[in-house]
Amino acid sequence: MGRAAASLPALPSLLLLGLVAAGAAWPARAPAALPRLPAVPNVVHPPVPDEMRQLAEAAAEALGDDDPEVRPALFQGDMAITNEMYEYWRVGLRWDVFPEKLWDNATVPYVISPLYDPADYATIFQAITTLKFMTCIRFVPWDGKAKDFLLIWPIKKPAGCWSFVGKFGGPQLLSLQPPDERGPNCLGGEGRAIHEILHALGIFHEQSRADRDEFVDVLYENVIPGLEVNFDKQSLENTTYSFEYDYDSIMHYGKYYFSKEKGKPTIVPKKKDAKLGQRWSMSTTDCLKINDLYGCLDKSSYHQRRFYTLCRIMGA
Ligand SMILES: [Zn+2]
Repeated sequence: MGRAAASLPALPSLLLLGLVAAGAAWPARAPAALPRLPAVPNVVHPPVPDEMRQLAEAAAEALGDDDPEVRPALFQGDMAITNEMYEYWRVGLRWDVFPEKLWDNATVPYVISPLYDPADYATIFQAITTLKFMTCIRFVPWDGKAKDFLLIWPIKKPAGCWSFVGKFGGPQLLSLQPPDERGPNCLGGEGRAIHEILHALGIFHEQSRADRDEFVDVLYENVIPGLEVNFDKQSLENTTYSFEYDYDSIMHYGKYYFSKEKGKPTIVPKKKDAKLGQRWSMSTTDCLKINDLYGCLDKSSYHQRRFYTLCRIMGA
């Protein structure tokens, strides 16, 4: 520090004082002890309704493996749910029936697996930072004590990008497959991580909205036989909230998801030139929707103004 100060004689003394103070503080700060992580096996069995599992296994062969978000071993490609939830799901998972599926106090303790390379760790951290900035949801590093927390992990089987919908309770796995020789998988940018975290916060796929048939045509004849259930609809209260249908949603399927043949679309937007399936960032509506679900817009007029502005400016 003395050498640095001596080599910068022109710096104002106040700034130098700041440098000295910061330097002096470093050795005093002991590194925080990391909480002991639960053991995560390479192969996990996320809960998938029994009848879905049979269907999915039968159809698994038919599906091309080029999109890590489209894995037939899971419900709706990248969601894991229980038999109990599935029974409700037929009519839509309702927040008044499952209030415990929202994270308490809009707080999500999380762990990013130490197995990730620094660059991939940074991508996931960036996704969390973006969500923190654009919402009132608090993402906090898991302190080793909180009962419910998100465990973001490069699960080997089933690999790919997948998540539970809403808070599951206890350590909750969220899989983000890192890049490999075949491609970037879930971590080519922060978008797919944001998509999966939005599932974990309780958001469904946009095209599963009850009113989607007014906005898109689902071409079932192009869907891999047995996987039509990926295009099921939710109940009205579950997915529309008070927002318009959003082609730009980061939660919307792409045009060719679950297509049985390359070039044959499974979803065609009714609005001409609408693009589907972007995975760059939350749309303005995604952003408003998640803020609405967690009460961020009702907290105060300051919050309302802040999040409306942020969503408008930063939304895709
Ligand atoms: Zn999804």
